[in-house]
Amino acid sequence: MSRTPYPPSYYAASANPAPDRPPLQGAVETDVCVIGAGYTGISAALFLLEQGYRVTVLEAAKVGFGASGRNGGQMVNSYSRDLDVVEKQVGPEQARLLGEMAFEGGRIIRERIQRYGIRCDLKDGGVFAAVTAKQLAQLEQQKKLWERYGYHQLELLDTDAMRGVVNTELYAGGMLDRGSGHIHPLNLVLGEADAVESLGGVIHEQSAVLQVEQGEHPVVRTVQGQVRARFVVVAGNAYLGDLLPPLAARSMPCGTQVVATAPLGEELAHSLLPQDYCVEDCNYLLDYYRLSADKRLIFGGGVVYGARDPADIEALIRPNLVRTFPQLREVQIDYAWTGNFLLTLSRLPQLGRLGSNIYYSQGCSGHGVTFTHVAGRVLAEAIRGQAERFDAFAALPHYPFPGGRLLRVPLTALGAWYYQLRDRLGW
Ligand SMILES: Cc1cc2nc3c(=O)[nH]c(=O)nc-3n(C[C@H](O)[C@H](O)[C@H](O)COP(=O)(O)OP(=O)(O)OC[C@H]3O[C@@H](n4cnc5c(N)ncnc54)[C@H](O)[C@@H]3O)c2cc1C
Repeated sequence: MSRTPYPPSYYAASANPAPDRPPLQGAVETDVCVIGAGYTGISAALFLLEQGYRVTVLEAAKVGFGASGRNGGQMVNSYSRDLDVVEKQVGPEQARLLGEMAFEGGRIIRERIQRYGIRCDLKDGGVFAAVTAKQLAQLEQQKKLWERYGYHQLELLDTDAMRGVVNTELYAGGMLDRGSGHIHPLNLVLGEADAVESLGGVIHEQSAVLQVEQGEHPVVRTVQGQVRARFVVVAGNAYLGDLLPPLAARSMPCGTQVVATAPLGEELAHSLLPQDYCVEDCNYLLDYYRLSADKRLIFGGGVVYGARDPADIEALIRPNLVRTFPQLREVQIDYAWTGNFLLTLSRLPQLGRLGSNIYYSQGCSGHGVTFTHVAGRVLAEAIRGQAERFDAFAALPHYPFPGGRLLRVPLTALGAWYYQLRDRLGW
């Protein structure tokens, strides 16, 4: 059987040792079958195991093969659209629940790292960078909004204070979130997968699910085996393809690219990001960057709607990197990779259920490191019969993309071009 390896990223090159988990073979019975070993699937598995369920995880490639093992490593709070948008879409009680959960993911990750001794280079603190005065004013509003939901870890930074945390002339100011932070994303999910196995969970790699047969006891089939379960959790996100057409119909895979420079050395790295915070700017098509533990700059950005792999990632990312830090004009890029996230029209996540026992969570639309950990807990709660928080998410509307599958890519790209233009012109 051919084996799908990790893409050649800095994370794969610096991953903690992990076993090759054998593919599923033969027929298995369990309580919950999880499809996909990214943060969503592994997080759900871990919560379920902690509650005494038997869990089998089926992963098409390797643990963390998808976005969870490739992302920028930024633990950003809240959702890809903020709570003011959420408030307009659901009733006050659901908005309250969703507002509380917007700040839970970072706590879950820190608790997991602590409890299971996960080595993933956790650093505290993240900064939103305002490119324009208008964006700085919007950050002020965001601070008030988050404070309304009881979150008080934010500090506004004027131009000078911002220069103290990011050594570039690009920004009008920013906002520090002390509850944010950054991690080595692949090592986080690898550590969580180890925790799953330490609690008796079973993970099969190289086990792509080809069919899900719905029913009182759903059956999940791979080439060489099948799992009969009481519940299924679908966590394939942007890599799920057409396995379950209703999930594909209301979302769109998109690519985003990341590069890692050669190690910069302690002094240069410190001069760029003296506090070692991660940074994302406030543009619609945003840049995001941070230092790795060995002092490389990990810099990401760009979106390819429809998730085609770009021919030359470095050529896409380097101009923005150099615009941010002209000091790095000559820097060598050691790694460049791409990964897919799942966009929804509202940019809010989609949680739901097919029939009575097939649960899914998908579509964090680019901000998923923290949210996927909340999703794992919420899915586990729903399976246990406590669906209040799951229902709050399920109440968010799941809109189809205009233009259907044929035209959704060009139409969305057109919309993004408009927002990009607004950012450039400071509208
Ligand atoms: C390049 C990049 C940078 C990002 N940066 C950030 C960031 O800095 N901060 C942030 O908050 N978010 C970021 N994101 C988003 C974040 O990484 C994702 O939202 C999150 O990792 C999604 O996790 P997931 O488990 O839902 O999906 P994934 O991690 O994509 O996992 C899905 C898994 O399911 C498996 N799978 C799919 N279909 C099947 C099948 N049929 N059978 C078995 N297995 C299957 C896949 O192989 C994959 O391993 C980024 C995303 C990308 C791509």
